[in-house]
Amino acid sequence: MTTLTAFAMDTYMTVSVRGIDSFEAAKAAGELIEEYDSLFSVSGSGSDIAAINSAAGEPVNISSETLRQITASIEVSGRSGGAFDITVEPLADAWGFSGGSEYRIPSDLEISQLLDKVDYSRIQISGNTLSIPDDMKISLGATAKGYTSDALVALFGSYRVDGAVISLGGNVQTFGTKKDGSEWIIAIQDPNDPERYTGTVSVSETAVVTSGNYQRYFESGGKRYGHIIDPATGYPVQNGLLSATVICHSGLLSDCLSTALFVLGEEGAKSYYETYGGFDMILITSDGRIIVTSGIAGSYTQEKNSPYILEVF
Ligand code: AMP
Ligand code: MG
Repeated sequence: MTTLTAFAMDTYMTVSVRGIDSFEAAKAAGELIEEYDSLFSVSGSGSDIAAINSAAGEPVNISSETLRQITASIEVSGRSGGAFDITVEPLADAWGFSGGSEYRIPSDLEISQLLDKVDYSRIQISGNTLSIPDDMKISLGATAKGYTSDALVALFGSYRVDGAVISLGGNVQTFGTKKDGSEWIIAIQDPNDPERYTGTVSVSETAVVTSGNYQRYFESGGKRYGHIIDPATGYPVQNGLLSATVICHSGLLSDCLSTALFVLGEEGAKSYYETYGGFDMILITSDGRIIVTSGIAGSYTQEKNSPYILEVF
């Protein structure tokens, strides 16, 4: 077993690999994480995103890795009625959630002006070039970790690796099996007390991705402002959900969806699930419920002291 730890994409990452090639595979994983950290970051000379954001409306050649994420994002944007939108970056930046800027509450006027710059349908893709209007900006904060964990799974497939757990901030993805062949046990954090977990899910090879207000936020006047922005209002999401976890085979799709469902809220997430399916989800609400979809209800084990009431949807 080899364990690699890294700080990249603004979060702590741990990758544990088991198998004859575990050392080489973990080393290659570290290199790929570093490469993707630069490629998908909002700043830096090697970044596709920085190039797009500073292109002043001109088309930019981008890597297939970036293109995949943007294409998947646009699809989820359409399906979620714009709740998921990677062009929300100017607002994320204004609130202080992007890079080095300070946390602050922008004025209503500033928010309404910035909302004019948010519109995923104005992203233009032609072959491997992409352009956005001059005043718009994108970020892959909601997709890069999921894309990266998919890539690490693919990478491990080319080494003699029997099992691996990839944990990139709120994104967990598994590869292969545990040593004894049993299922992986993934903990679901308690958003009100992130040092603790409220339950576990037992899974085979899959991604388990959580979005929530507790992962990055600031507080002012007794109110919490989290890093996920509702593109309908320009304000941090405040809709009664504390976290949304998505479980599906694709790390990229899970990452898009966990963010999208968190913005949609309980009812919106339920109707998205009923319309599109293809994944399982765990929603934790501020009124003390944990809602688990029927596909994984049998694999979910609630902690003895969990403060949440379990509902199966
Ligand atoms: P995640 O942790 O995957 O839920 O992604 C959150 C990150 O995505 C934030 O830190 C922002 O960079 C970006 N983001 C915030 N709000 C949205 C949104 N409504 N749609 C897409 N990306 C967003
Ligand atoms: Mg996400």
